Amino acid sequence: MVRPETDQSRRILVIDDNPAIHEDFRKTLVGKAPADKTLLDMESELFGARGPEPDAGNFHVDCVPQGRDGVEAAARAKADGRPYALAFVDGRMPPGMDGIQTIKELWRACPDIQAVLCTAYADYSWQEIQSALGVSDNLVILKKPFDTVEVLQLAHALTRKWELDREIQGRLHKLAYFDTLTDLPNRTLFLDRLEHLLKLSKRYGRMGALLFLDLDNFKRVNDSLGHGVGDELLKIASRRMSDCLRSADTVARLDQPDMAARLGGDEFAVILADVERPETAANVALRLADHLAKPIDIGTHQVIVTSSIGITLFPQDGDDVATLLKNADLAMYNAKQNGPSRFLFYQEDMNVAVQKRMALEHHLGRAIANNEFTLHYQPQINLATGRLVGMEALLRWSNPELGQVSPLEFISIAEENGLIISIGEWVLRTACTQVKIWMDQELPLPRIGVNISLPQLVHAGFARTVDAVLAETGLPPHRLELEITESMLMSDPEGVARTLHELKGRGIQVAVDDFGTGYSSLGRLRDLPIDCLKIDRCFVTGISLGQRDESILNAVIAMAAGMDLRVVAEGVETPGQADFLRTSHCPEVQGYLFSRPLTVSQAEAFLREQCRIIG
Ligand code: C2E
Ligand code: CA
Ligand code: CA
Repeated sequence: MVRPETDQSRRILVIDDNPAIHEDFRKTLVGKAPADKTLLDMESELFGARGPEPDAGNFHVDCVPQGRDGVEAAARAKADGRPYALAFVDGRMPPGMDGIQTIKELWRACPDIQAVLCTAYADYSWQEIQSALGVSDNLVILKKPFDTVEVLQLAHALTRKWELDREIQGRLHKLAYFDTLTDLPNRTLFLDRLEHLLKLSKRYGRMGALLFLDLDNFKRVNDSLGHGVGDELLKIASRRMSDCLRSADTVARLDQPDMAARLGGDEFAVILADVERPETAANVALRLADHLAKPIDIGTHQVIVTSSIGITLFPQDGDDVATLLKNADLAMYNAKQNGPSRFLFYQEDMNVAVQKRMALEHHLGRAIANNEFTLHYQPQINLATGRLVGMEALLRWSNPELGQVSPLEFISIAEENGLIISIGEWVLRTACTQVKIWMDQELPLPRIGVNISLPQLVHAGFARTVDAVLAETGLPPHRLELEITESMLMSDPEGVARTLHELKGRGIQVAVDDFGTGYSSLGRLRDLPIDCLKIDRCFVTGISLGQRDESILNAVIAMAAGMDLRVVAEGVETPGQADFLRTSHCPEVQGYLFSRPLTVSQAEAFLREQCRIIG
């Protein structure tokens, strides 16, 4: 009964026990004259004397006599990838299922098929139909006898509706399961697939591999060259990964192809459905790493991104998806410690320190949202007058699981993984807000020092962020002093200098932190817009221990005076150290001797006390 194709996308199924009606539908919808004279005669039964319209549609029509045949044909066509868009279903088809039952079954096999129930007036009431089939916009009822035009219009409208429905479904599916930037499968689809393959591998004793892949220096590129370049880079990396898998030598069966997915940010995963030996996974990892590390030209930039890859084999490395992922992540983490473009297989004894650091990173990522950060404020004192000249804001992190974590421990991690950008912005905003509150309470603080990390300073939006925070909080720019370490001055001379000049132009002050430890040249210091040197604690500690530190201190203080820079000696703990600094005419000090870093309320009390003294 099946005729050759006319239009792939507009396939119609007619289910009717009367063969004459099959021909009528064909004439109407395909536009071919019936071969048989008797059929011509029978046509008047349905369409009256006029016969079908001459401009019949260009549909592909298949006809079957019974509901059961129709459901089978529809299911088969769907499985073959040539689904029917529309079915015309006769109401009564003895001895088989009636129209309603047939449509019910059709929808079970092909939920999106459009159905036209062709009934004589007395067949069913509307209520009957609704209670049997539910309310659906995939159903139209056509009363017999029908008009050719009616049939044609329904065919056009409903097949088009079916196409549009599918298009929308396709788009929704894509949105739900694919990453919009790279077109790779997203985390959801990836987890589905992994779950499925893990089950299969347990059941059939096959081995699969999960590769967890992280781009090593992506965040640096993203921060320094901007998100446009970063996005482009992710797209190229994704394409390279897919290409790599296509040419991979795994023996993946066609029904379970290998898959690369983007899990988020610069994290990717590759699932190899079927690996015979671990070496196969290692080969793929090697090829991925090689391929990814080739230079990429983006606009005027050439960048090289390397990757670190952790490999887990399943089912042996994890009984469930979460464990597998965790172990692959751990292996990747270890690989990263070994340098760029490395891969490592997961091993049970992968070290505890790494696990601890991973936990720290995990919690750090949520610390702002969970309100786990606070700022403490450490007073800076004019040594000659004993008066408060400023405070330094120092970040404190208290996590329910990890307890108090020192900034010495977590700042470097935040710098590596890029979190420092948002953390640093939080610090800046919180400090400026606090100082403005104190100003408004007539507790003026001349200056607030805020520590800035290198990734912040070279970040494209840094000056804008500072502007925004100042505008938002209403803090006058000259009250803000950004502390940048001496080593930062040397790391990216061009970019750093530009940003510093920009900030300076707004009246913001700049202090060089940990001065004396970073080997900056005098020439460099002279060229940069700097207001203050903070002499590193190690020199202060050296006072009275050795002649050398004392000479360095004296030299730095004299030099700063000559260059018209302020000086703060850090980490002053003993009266002896303070005496020495006073004799050396060191203008300002900071350290436990004068005050430890204070909580907000302690700092406020300190400020009140100052106001009282000054009167
Ligand atoms: P830093 O900028 O050199 O800050 C001074 C550090 O010395 C602080 O440690 C402070 O508590 C400590 N200190 C002050 N006086 C004394 C003293 O008399 N004796 C001794 N032994 N130590 C003293 P803290 O708060 O643990 O901060 C350590 C480092 O963490 C800071 O060194 C800074 O590099 C970094 N850090 C802290 N807060 C932030 C922040 O908000 N952003 C960034 N990027 N880094 C921060
Ligand atoms: Ca500092
Ligand atoms: Ca310091």
